[in-house]
Formats: sequence, C-alpha cells, structure tokens
Amino acid sequence: MTDYYSLGDPVADTKAPDGPIETRWERRRFGAKLVNPANKRKLSVIVVGTGLAGGSAAATLGELGYQVKSYCYQDSPRRAHSIAAQGGINAAKNYRNDGDSVHRLFYDTVKGGDFRSRESNVHRLAQISVQIIDQCVAQGVPFAREYGGLLDTRSFGGAQVSRTFYARGQTGQQLLLGAYQALERQIAAGTVTMHDRHEMLELIIVDGRARGIVVRDLVTGEITTEFADAVVLASGGYGNVFFLSTNAKGCNVTASWRAHRKGALFANPCYTQIHPTCIPVSGDHQSKLTLMSESLRNDGRVWVPKAKGDTRIPADIPEDERDYYLERIYPAFGNLVPRDIASRAAKNVCDEGRGVGPGGLGVYLDFAAAIGRLGRDAVEAKYGNLFDMYQRITGEDPYTTPMRIYPAVHYTMGGLWVDYDLQSSIPGLFVIGEANFSDHGANRLGASALMQGLADGYFVLPNTIGDYLAAGPFPKLDGENAEVAAARKQVEDRIEKLLSIDGDRTVDSFHRELGRIMWEYCGMERTDAGLRKAISEIRELKAEFWQRVKVPGDGEGLNQSLERAGRVADFFELAELMCIDALHREESCGGHFRAESQTEDGEAQRDDERYSYVAAWEFTGDAPVLHKEDLTFEYVHPSQRSYK
Ligand SMILES: Cc1cc2nc3c(=O)[nH]c(=O)nc-3n(C[C@H](O)[C@H](O)[C@H](O)COP(=O)(O)OP(=O)(O)OC[C@H]3O[C@@H](n4cnc5c(N)ncnc54)[C@H](O)[C@@H]3O)c2cc1C
Repeated sequence: MTDYYSLGDPVADTKAPDGPIETRWERRRFGAKLVNPANKRKLSVIVVGTGLAGGSAAATLGELGYQVKSYCYQDSPRRAHSIAAQGGINAAKNYRNDGDSVHRLFYDTVKGGDFRSRESNVHRLAQISVQIIDQCVAQGVPFAREYGGLLDTRSFGGAQVSRTFYARGQTGQQLLLGAYQALERQIAAGTVTMHDRHEMLELIIVDGRARGIVVRDLVTGEITTEFADAVVLASGGYGNVFFLSTNAKGCNVTASWRAHRKGALFANPCYTQIHPTCIPVSGDHQSKLTLMSESLRNDGRVWVPKAKGDTRIPADIPEDERDYYLERIYPAFGNLVPRDIASRAAKNVCDEGRGVGPGGLGVYLDFAAAIGRLGRDAVEAKYGNLFDMYQRITGEDPYTTPMRIYPAVHYTMGGLWVDYDLQSSIPGLFVIGEANFSDHGANRLGASALMQGLADGYFVLPNTIGDYLAAGPFPKLDGENAEVAAARKQVEDRIEKLLSIDGDRTVDSFHRELGRIMWEYCGMERTDAGLRKAISEIRELKAEFWQRVKVPGDGEGLNQSLERAGRVADFFELAELMCIDALHREESCGGHFRAESQTEDGEAQRDDERYSYVAAWEFTGDAPVLHKEDLTFEYVHPSQRSYK
C-alpha cells in the first residue's frame, strides 16, 4: 500500500467553532472580520462556475458590493449542469407537521452520509435550509403548492418525513432561473462582469495566495490572465471520470484538478454516488445516461421476478411471483432507502440472475399501484415530464408498463478540501457546491445537493469570504510577474503538447476506456485486487494517451477536441487518485463499498476505529501524501446504519 502513497501530518479545520452546535454558525459569523461597504468596492473576486453554487455566490457578492468576475464554459450561465436537477431541494420547514426539525435534517444527513461528514457543517446546512426556501420564493421560484397555498413537499430517500420542495421534475431549472435573474441584475448594475465560453485552465498563486486564473476563450482561442483578491471555484462534480454518468457531457474536473496540482488538498475522492434509478445502458455507442428522479420512488414500487431468468413481460408475472425486494428487506424505509443502499440491492438481485431487460441489468419501477390509488391524472401532474422523457428515450409507456432502471454514476461527494469557511488549503481559494467535499460524507441524501450549493452560494461564502478579504486589497498584478507568467506558460505548453502528438486514437476512445476501468474496479463494488489492477491499467492508458491521442485542428479558435483532450488528461490523474483513496480505505461506507468489508447480510461494514477521518490528499507529482482530518461526533453517535 505504501508504494502508492505516504502519510503526512494531520490536517485541522481551524475555523470550525466549538461549543453548542446550535450557535456555532452564529458565533463564527460574529467572529469573522467584516469589510465595510466602501472597502468592498475596492476588492475583487473571481467566481468560476455559474451553476446554483457559483450563480448564487456571484449574485450575492455583487449585491454586497464586491467587484465580481464570473466565468463559465457554456454559452450562457443558465446552461450550467444544475439546470438538469429534477427532484427537489430539502428544507426543514416542517410545513407538514410530520415531526421534521433542523435537528432531524441534521441527524438524517449525518447518518445518511454514514458518519463520514463534519457535524458542524451539516448542522449549519440544516439551519440554512430554511432560509434558502424563503429566498427562492421571494425571487419567484414556482415551487409546487398544495391546496391550502403552502408549498408542497414530497419524500426522498433516507428520511421518514416529507421535506423535499419541488417544481415538478424541473426543480434545478427553476432554482437556476432564480439565481440567474439575481446574477443578471448584478451584471446590469455593473458589479458582476460575465465571461461565458471561457474555460479556466490554471490557477495563479502569487506569494502563497490564490490571485487569479488563466483562461482560454473557447471561441477565439485567446489565452488571458485574470486577477482578483480571491478566487472561488464553483465548478461542479467529476462524475464524468466514469465516461457514462448522469452528468452533463461537459462536466469535468479541470478547475479543481489544476488547483489540486498547485497545492489544494483533494478530499475523499473515492466517494462516488451511484444513483439507483437511471435508464439502463442500451449499447456501446451511448455517451450519456439519463436519470429518473428519486422522487419517483415516492410512488413507484421497485421489483424483480422471484425466479431467476424469468423472461416473461411484467404484465404476465403474477403478484405472488414478484419480489418487492426493498419493501421486503427494509420495511421501515421501503422504496425510500438511501441511494447507496438501493443501488447495491439492485446490483445484488441482478447478480443473482433476477434482473430484467437486455443483459439482465435492470429492475422494474412500477406505478400501477399509484395509478390505481391516485388516478393517472394525479401521477401525471406530479411526474409528467419524467414519464415523457422515459417514453421518448425507451419507446415504452411507463403509465402502462413498469419503467426499467439500473444504477449509474450520478454525484461525487469528494472534492477539494475546505475548512468551515469554505476556504481550501490555499489561502484565498474558496470552493463551493459540488466541487468541494464538505457536507455529505460518504453518501449524499437525495435533494441535498441543491440545498448545499445554494447554502454555500447565498449564505455561507458571502459571510466567510470577508474574513479573508479584510486583509486586502492585495498588491496589483500584471503579466510580468514571474508566477503569473509561469502559470500562463504552463497552459500554452500543455495546449501545444496536446496538439503536437497527432496520434491515431480519438480523445473519446481514451475516455470511454478509462470509464470502463473505473466502473469495473472503482464503481459500485471495490476490492483490493481490483483497485490495484485499475491503477496499473490507468497508468498504462495514460501513457498511451500522451503518445497516441489525436487532437485535430489548432488552438486558434473553437476546438472541442482540444477542450475534451485537456479534460480527459486531468481525468486520468484524478482516476488514479480515486483508486488509491479507495484502496487505502479498507472499510465500506456509503458510496464506497469494499467487498472485503461487509456484514453477514451483505450490508456495508464501517470501521470507525481506523477510518473515521476525512482523507485529504496532497499532490506531489509522484506518490500522493495523505493528510487525515479526524472526525468527532458529539451529537449523532455513530452506529451501524439500519433502514430496516
Ligand atoms: C440529472 C441530475 C439530476 C439531479 N437532481 C437533483 C435534485 O433533484 N436535487 C438535488 O439536490 N441535486 C440533484 N442533482 C445534483 C445537483 O444537480 C448538482 O450537484 C448541482 O447542481 C451542482 O451544482 P454546482 O453549482 O456545484 O455545479 P454545476 O451546476 O455543475 O455548475 C458548474 C459550473 O462551473 C463551470 N465550470 C466548470 N469548470 C469550469 C472551468 N474550468 N472554467 C470555467 N467554468 C467552469 C460550468 O460552466 C458551470 O457553470 C442532480 C444531478 C443530476 C446529474
């Protein structure tokens, strides 16, 4: 094992307050330095990303009076991947009077994350969840309402209360339109300048502080250096390292990885969420998988035939020959067990030979009972767009025949390490949204990513970044500065290298092969031998990439092969770190299932004595260095997770 990494000093979250958990966030805000309004105008912040995290942060920082520069690689901030979010956003409003509270949301999230997240962060998230809904309603986000006029909620996995606010199956889109309007308002007011179709390719560090980024204009190919007093990364998750995932095709790790190479610690890279309800893979030429929102498990019942190899159509399989396995194994939570549990259960029944559809890699999600109970119109009102989407992709009508679903890569709980202020290990570099590792532990509960992204962007970062910026403005910079020039040269050299290889294999063929290795050995189930094999295969493939990749065209204008090549090159390095992280963690927890560490009935077996820590990895160019941040639990005591 030590061939792969070495052990460094522990890392501590020095900003985390102690004392009663209910007042920690309030006390941190009070303790943080403030910047007076006149000084805010002299301070600048770069925000990379315009999804829910970056869009809300840029808008709020602009409103506060900072000079903000906002970047995204899409042609509009509105096209960030957040727009794809379907099911909903959690908040402890307790409108239903069903026993919810800030404490319960906190408890469910710490437990759902399999006791691998920080209590202080999760508690703050639960507190802020309530403010998020108020803010979004004030912006005009059209959440669903029930007959009395209050906002409606539905249930999501890992909770026995109904706390998920939604806008049909388009919650992300509606929330993003809210954040986008707020952002546009600041653009019009002149506090935010927007740079779409620009990709950050390097971080600029001067005198130990993050001071800017190197960007490429994706239309003209021009490379420029951009400066600020602080840099915020809100660049999303890295699930596309698996090639096939539910993420938008463009999602990548480059912004985070470039920062990691410059000294930002990368935490828990192996924690990947495999979502149980996706449309199964249909062939070798597919480049994307489609999510069927978890909200469908409110009313859909998951089943497979009781008999192995039963190829009858679902309508011909009588009730008593069906196995509603989630309801059978987990009667307390039934179809609403958390994602890691539901995914593994689907894999198990398919491995037993009871899977349905081509290749036996599928299970049914059946709405017959809900349609019988509520009527087709009611089901259509709740899930209509999701049903339409399913029908368009598969050609099957889910109102009359059960959907077929199978787990797929969906979300990455790992990300750049941040402290309680959301500052990385590089001073002046803040990381928010899916790009950081902070709140979900080893498994994210459904509807918690939107909550975290907006908590970070609207509420946490705007309060904590001032504590850092109060020491600014920092000295003015230009291209003559040696550290700036070096960062720019790194970008130019890399582009030149990618273009000059002129090999005979496409970028996508490498990416697809990398994804296959990752899915096979670092996917739903991992073993010591498999991970070692993966590391050696990744190293070989990476070496081949740098010999044989073919990047047509040049760097002088729009060149999507070049964009993809740079992203895949970073995925190779990340993939290796993910496997090393997975290999060193000889326990199962949440989204990380080690076959060697399971209970007698096949559930994940944690090892709190050896692994109750955040694994924060340092880049060295050679074997990475592991820094451990110990986790302590004062309020939710670690126990074997049970949803039975
Ligand atoms: C299909 C689907 C459905 C989902 N449904 C839900 C749900 O119902 N509820 C829930 O809570 N969560 C859901 N999630 C998860 C959630 O949508 C994401 O975790 C969340 O939206 C991420 O937001 P973000 O702002 O961190 O990143 P993103 O929305 O991914 O935004 C990233 C931004 O960074 C920019 N960027 C990235 N790299 C660079 C670079 N190098 N240079 C310049 N710009 C860059 C991009 O242009 C983009 O603007 C879903 C996810 C998927 C895939």
